[in-house]
Amino acid sequence: MFRLLIIFGIIFNIVSFFYTGFSFFILIFNLSFLVILYLYREKRVSDSLKENNTDIIKDDSISNYELQEFFLSQLREIIIVTNKFNVVTYANEAANIFFGKSLLAQNISSELRIPELLDSIDQVRELEKIINIDIELKVPVYKFLKVDVIPAKQQNIIIIIRDHTEIKKSQDLRSDFVANVSHELKTPLSSIRGFLETITTSAKDDPKMQKKFIEIMQQQAEKMQILIDDLMTLSRIEQQEHIKPKNNIILNNVILEAINNYKDTKNRISIKFNIPNKNILIKGDKEKLLVAFKNILDNAIKYGANKSITVNLESFDSKISLSIIDQGIGISQKDILRITERFYRSDNAKKLKIDGTGIGLSIVKHIINQHGAELKIHSVEGKGSNFTIEFAQL
Ligand code: ADP
Repeated sequence: MFRLLIIFGIIFNIVSFFYTGFSFFILIFNLSFLVILYLYREKRVSDSLKENNTDIIKDDSISNYELQEFFLSQLREIIIVTNKFNVVTYANEAANIFFGKSLLAQNISSELRIPELLDSIDQVRELEKIINIDIELKVPVYKFLKVDVIPAKQQNIIIIIRDHTEIKKSQDLRSDFVANVSHELKTPLSSIRGFLETITTSAKDDPKMQKKFIEIMQQQAEKMQILIDDLMTLSRIEQQEHIKPKNNIILNNVILEAINNYKDTKNRISIKFNIPNKNILIKGDKEKLLVAFKNILDNAIKYGANKSITVNLESFDSKISLSIIDQGIGISQKDILRITERFYRSDNAKKLKIDGTGIGLSIVKHIINQHGAELKIHSVEGKGSNFTIEFAQL
């Protein structure tokens, strides 16, 4: 509206300037009118802004203290403030949850028995500078904490604790993995290099020895190839674990296809199977399930002491159960807890020098997780093992 008035004013100004025969008096008069109009508009705008802001401030019933309190309670970091007597004057919600109790008004030295933290508090008071420390708690459960101890006014201390347990675990897992892979590849590689040297030096003129060593080198190269293939499968399957299978598949056919792979093997171990005629449907990824079933069957043959293997597929009201049972060397209770970890091999398998990478069952575990299924292992040493996968009914 004001904008229109001003534009109209300018046009009126120009017209009247020409019409009155270029009278400067009229021009000055009109221009003053425009300036007054403009200043009046500015005042109206600023008054209205002030009015609105006062409304916002009036409406806002949260005080600054409440806002800070809310902000601190939402933080994932644990924040504790102690006074110069080491009495806790503030602990946020994360602190109460982490330590499982309220620390407020308690003496930190008696409440938290973490010597590294208490020493750092004393040092910070003395040196009046920030100290950053890493703390590993072993009991009741393993925790890895990154802690900042900060001096504040009047010998108060602010403690900020970040729980880095999961980050530390995955870092450790990664470095263990690299160490394991390097170790597993190094052994066959050094053996190949050793034999290569022998056939080019001392066995240079001995075709019989050369033939024998070349065979060993071939076996070692094959071992390396199996390990690399297993690692690549593991990495692919790990990456896809979160993708839930959408296709309906007939479980009877997948397990029969896996069993058929062993028809022509040299190992003539008999596989008995009880698979119902009625189709059992699940949501699944056929190729991945084939990998999982083959890995368990491979193990049943490898650790099965040349005795027959039984495969049972059953469908109950609430679940579908697939069991692969062997009568082989078995697994100790201590090893059962760990055999699905990457690279873990049971003492029995190592003692009997049965070849393996320790990767197969970790691949199985990821595939089973992806299918929302469950792997149950029962075993008696010297009697055999039962690997059962339980799927939910569709
Ligand atoms: P590997 O290549 O060593 O067979 P897996 O991950 O498939 O690796 O299995 C891990 C370990 O679990 C094996 O080294 C073996 O000690 C044990 N294991 C797996 N299946 C059986 C079984 N059917 N009988 C006895 N031990 C088994």
